[in-house]
Amino acid sequence: MNDIILETKHLTKEFRGFVAVNDISLRVQRGQIHALIGPNGAGKTTCFNLLTKFLTPTRGTIAFNGVDITKERPAQIARRGIIRSFQISAVFPHLTVLENVRIGLQRETGLSFHFWQSEKRLNQLNDRAQAILEQVDLGNFANEITSSLPYGRKRALEIATTLAMEPELMLLDEPTQGMGHEDVDRVTQLIKRVSVGRTILMVEHNMNVVSSIADTITVLARGAVLAEGPYSHVSRDPAVMEAYMGT
Ligand code: ADP
Repeated sequence: MNDIILETKHLTKEFRGFVAVNDISLRVQRGQIHALIGPNGAGKTTCFNLLTKFLTPTRGTIAFNGVDITKERPAQIARRGIIRSFQISAVFPHLTVLENVRIGLQRETGLSFHFWQSEKRLNQLNDRAQAILEQVDLGNFANEITSSLPYGRKRALEIATTLAMEPELMLLDEPTQGMGHEDVDRVTQLIKRVSVGRTILMVEHNMNVVSSIADTITVLARGAVLAEGPYSHVSRDPAVMEAYMGT
């Protein structure tokens, strides 16, 4: 199978003449953790929005597993297995942690939210949801009401609900943002764990996280690719140093 899971060519997004993403050609290798980094305003979020088609590119193409998906709608892209982590706001706060993952599983299997489920089916879904929670260290929180979880655990739940949709390519949007050291370490480790057998593209500001788990880093600045490669390579790049020091 092709080693490149996701490839953009000349991806460009203009907002009324302002070029937010400028001719980005990105290749994400299957099985890797690939980080997108860059100063504020570099175009990282716009790039994610283009990949999931929350935004339509002005120019350029996006291919997933060799298939051109540039013209597909967000739901089609999700069905192909490109799943973006849901923000906390998309998690139902009054449901239990387990119920939130179960809803993700029902989305994945295309079931609507039937009020009535056979008991057998419900037990199967609960077992799968519990197994996913164990993967992200939330096994003991399954029956907690989601709103009562500490912040770091809520972010881990976001990853769990994404996993429930069986992503082939998982897009994580600043998964450690706003966390203290302990939570950052825990979430970093769990990202590493859940990356086995799948590909992760993440926007991340924390250099310790990026240097410890990313196989490849793409540094963006002013909408364009400034440098790319493993941490050891990009961290020594003079243009990267300047972009970070200069802002
Ligand atoms: P990052 O995520 O790297 O901080 P963004 O992708 O959010 O950067 O933004 C890149 C640039 O595009 C910024 O200058 C931002 O102001 C601009 N931008 C983003 N979205 C819009 C929009 N909807 N309309 C106009 N400008 C936008």
